[in-house]
Amino acid sequence: MEESNKNLKLKIEQLKKEKNCLILAHYYTRKEVQQIADFTGDSLALAQRAADNEADMILFAGVRFMAETAKVLSPDKKVLLPVMEASCSLADSCGAEELKRMKEQYPDHKVVSYVNTSVEVKALTDVCCTSSNALDVVGSFDKEQKIIFTPDANLGGFINNLTGRNMKLWKGACHVHDAVSVKSVEELKAEHPAAKVLVHPECRAEVVALADYAGSTKGIIDYAKNSDSEEFIIVTEPGVMYEIEREAPGKRFYSISRSNSCVECEYMKMVTLENIYEALLHEEPVVEIDEQVRCAAEKSIREMLKIK
Ligand code: SF4
Repeated sequence: MEESNKNLKLKIEQLKKEKNCLILAHYYTRKEVQQIADFTGDSLALAQRAADNEADMILFAGVRFMAETAKVLSPDKKVLLPVMEASCSLADSCGAEELKRMKEQYPDHKVVSYVNTSVEVKALTDVCCTSSNALDVVGSFDKEQKIIFTPDANLGGFINNLTGRNMKLWKGACHVHDAVSVKSVEELKAEHPAAKVLVHPECRAEVVALADYAGSTKGIIDYAKNSDSEEFIIVTEPGVMYEIEREAPGKRFYSISRSNSCVECEYMKMVTLENIYEALLHEEPVVEIDEQVRCAAEKSIREMLKIK
């Protein structure tokens, strides 16, 4: 396995150079996938990199909404997504037609959508956000401005609590983070009482309430790296363990996945070295977006990038 991975990595490296292709990978992808990426990051950092690069082609090692965001921001580039079926339960929970109806019901509301949405939903959105910048994005509106927040009700509730706003929340959730139970965090805490608990705000409010720090994947990595503490319980998708252990060597990390309550994201794990190699070789599957939808979606993503 190690040997075949090594060969594949070499072949990918060669094709990447030949085609001037930039490989972007999310922190939740497999370790070997993150190792061959030119850049790994959370949704915000990946969107920023997709908007600003010199490559001729982008291969997105992640899920579909991320590759769509890259195509929206770099329309003249070929954007490859190795597995078109790599979806996202959160993005799938918000349909464009349903959102259109909600907007008609609340015409005086602005729409803030998490980037974990389809390109069609982004096209109906005023400003996108990620878990890294959601507070800044929501804070960029006047206090009186009414807001619909899609699609993550847990993240939206977290922002409502922090800001004292009363945004209307879409009832969506990420099946990975929403599955984390209070009991599983408490059990790990009992085993490691000195460990700081770092939680992604896509988790339920009662789980976030147990956190010493609640924030985006990148926020969690930075907190662990810069904190004086030596031990951490990591309450998010376990793919982040690769980057966190790299960034904070010598510290001790306990992934919530050990308790079985937080499963891996099966969509993120669909991307493998094999399908990356095939995608690079054949230059497909290619992400295509209707131009009118793309332009409308671009506006909401660029609004976000202007804020942060
Ligand atoms: S971890 Fe959750 S939000 Fe992230 S891609 Fe998977 S299903 Fe979507």
